[in-house]
Amino acid sequence: MINFKNVSKVYEHEGEELVAVNQVNLQVERGEIFGVIGFSGAGKSTLVRLVNQLEKPTDGEVLVDGQDVSSLSAKELRGMRRKISMIFQHFNLLESKTVYHNVAFPLILSGEPKDEIKKRVEEILDFVGLKDRANYYTDQLSGGQKQRVGIARALATSPDILLCDEATSALDPETTQSILELLRRIRDEYNVTILMITHEMNVVKDVCDRVAVMEDGEVIEQGSIFDLFTNP
Ligand code: ADP
Ligand code: ADP
Repeated sequence: MINFKNVSKVYEHEGEELVAVNQVNLQVERGEIFGVIGFSGAGKSTLVRLVNQLEKPTDGEVLVDGQDVSSLSAKELRGMRRKISMIFQHFNLLESKTVYHNVAFPLILSGEPKDEIKKRVEEILDFVGLKDRANYYTDQLSGGQKQRVGIARALATSPDILLCDEATSALDPETTQSILELLRRIRDEYNVTILMITHEMNVVKDVCDRVAVMEDGEVIEQGSIFDLFTNP
């Protein structure tokens, strides 16, 4: 589903080159929950941003469904972005808008008919357990509820892939568990492929099928949770 082939990303910063991602090879299968773990600065965020073309690789190819994402036309890229959604550590919600509007937003942008939007938003708010919060403003919600809104917004366009950038790092352990449970349901019920980055070991242990460990831009280990955590 997602295939990194010898991917490197080099940033230029004040005349210096910084290798953020260094010759990474990874394959994420459809319907899998794949975790990328590593310390801050390891290159995790850059790696996921290469999938939806928020960053372009300096070298190598990122294939989604067999297609090189850097070769897409602007129109194809817009279509692809509906199929690859993202959630964030700090939720990135529109604070002065209602929960309803936040979730409706990507559908409004793509010009969906109003009645279809209403149906879809109600359905998805029900799925994430926020049906009774539709008319709340997002600053009236707890952190966990905000992330549920972020997840509902990400699911509004019925994506194939969900990218999670430290999605539970701002949440307490109990809320983290409930969000991980929701991510598992998204995979099980909608067969969404989930690529998540985190610095929290318990998160990958709890929810990921396979894991890659990143250090200084390189994937230094990858395998099933069992392989990685039972072999010394
Ligand atoms: P992580 O998500 O693991 O914390 P990042 O991908 O954010 O790692 O960063 C990897 C390295 O790339 C870091 O050294 C960071 O400072 C650098 N970096 C990230 N984004 C940029 C950028 N836009 N310009 C220059 N350097 C960047
Ligand atoms: P605005 O664009 O003024 O911020 P909203 O995003 O709240 O307005 O609403 C956009 C549209 O969605 C409106 O036409 C409204 O009728 C409808 N709507 C808003 N909230 C709900 C809700 N809780 N249930 C169903 N429809 C809603």
